[in-house]
Amino acid sequence: MKLVSRIFEAIRSPYQCLGHQVTTDASIGIALAPQDGSDIDQILKNADLAMYAAKAAGRRTYRFFEPDMEAEVRARRGLEMDLRQALVDGGFEVYYQPCLSLQTNAITGCEALVRWRHPQRGMISPAEFVPLAEDTGLINQIGEWVLTTACKEAATWPGDVRLAVNVSPIQFRSGTLALKVMAALAASGLAASRVELEITEAVLIRDDEAALAVLHDLHAIGVRIALDDFGTGYSSLSYLQRFPFDKIKIDRCFITDIAEPQGSSCIVEAVVNIAAERHMTTTAEGVETEQQRDLLRELGCSEMQGYLFSAPQPAAEIRPLLSKYQPCPEAARPVRPRKRKDEARSA
Ligand code: C2E
Ligand code: CA
Ligand code: CA
Repeated sequence: MKLVSRIFEAIRSPYQCLGHQVTTDASIGIALAPQDGSDIDQILKNADLAMYAAKAAGRRTYRFFEPDMEAEVRARRGLEMDLRQALVDGGFEVYYQPCLSLQTNAITGCEALVRWRHPQRGMISPAEFVPLAEDTGLINQIGEWVLTTACKEAATWPGDVRLAVNVSPIQFRSGTLALKVMAALAASGLAASRVELEITEAVLIRDDEAALAVLHDLHAIGVRIALDDFGTGYSSLSYLQRFPFDKIKIDRCFITDIAEPQGSSCIVEAVVNIAAERHMTTTAEGVETEQQRDLLRELGCSEMQGYLFSAPQPAAEIRPLLSKYQPCPEAARPVRPRKRKDEARSA
């Protein structure tokens, strides 16, 4: 371990490069002779596998080689090859989940969620393959396919129903995201104002300035930008200062226990009030019960999404819902943000 610490120390000490102070870091993989290999090639290969395990464990750390690592890497490589093949064979589908106004009960938009129908394993959840697609860069092609497919579908929906598309931080780094969005809009004829891109704060963590410039370009052509999974990251509030988001999507973890006595209703209320002051709408994610919905309505949240109304479904299942849940003036219920405690006292 002393050797590992000395290597980290040596690599981490800052140095000067072309007049700038530069710092580097490392992920270290360790294979030992003779137990991890009988020749130098085998030992280097196993050290390499251990290094990937160190990277997967969050980088800036070290791992010793373990025989299981080889099987994991083989499985991952297999999945990566299947993912590439799925792009060629059309193995992906887009499901859509409606977002409902808590005020009018009308469907305001639908979120596109990618699905992978694996020839042997059946449906694979994006939670499993999106991280792999991000690591391999394949998310750029998958994301472009989702965007183009979903824009074509949304162009057939009633005029004011919006389309929300998830965008990975990797897609921002490609430098061509804005062009791809414009191409998808042009090919489908969908108005930019009907498209909402959902990003997480991870987009703004690295390459801040470059990502912000892309967000501003997209905003300038009328595309809306939503901050997804709000509340799950490190310093969400500071991100609200950095960009004029159109919408905050409050993560499901705050909705699950919203109706419980020591639950998250105060947090949701605070987010709704902050959003209202900044002219942003709020969507509650993962609403599963009527009690949660009623409380969210009372707290002044604008919209809801979740299994209570509809799980994500194929386009053909969603289309009939869109014409059924149109705004209807009689169904409108005023949304009254709950008075803040100080206002309530002075009233
Ligand atoms: P997300 O963007 O936060 O999407 C919401 C997830 O919650 C979806 O999971 C949805 O099916 C699920 N969900 C919706 N309502 C409920 C509910 O009432 N209860 C529960 N328990 N879950 C609910 P899904 O479709 O498996 O997607 C998982 C994640 O994968 C997404 O989280 C998003 O981060 C990512 N993802 C999906 N499609 C894409 C895509 O096209 N591009 C990118 N970059 N990421 C995607
Ligand atoms: Ca999302
Ligand atoms: Ca989310």
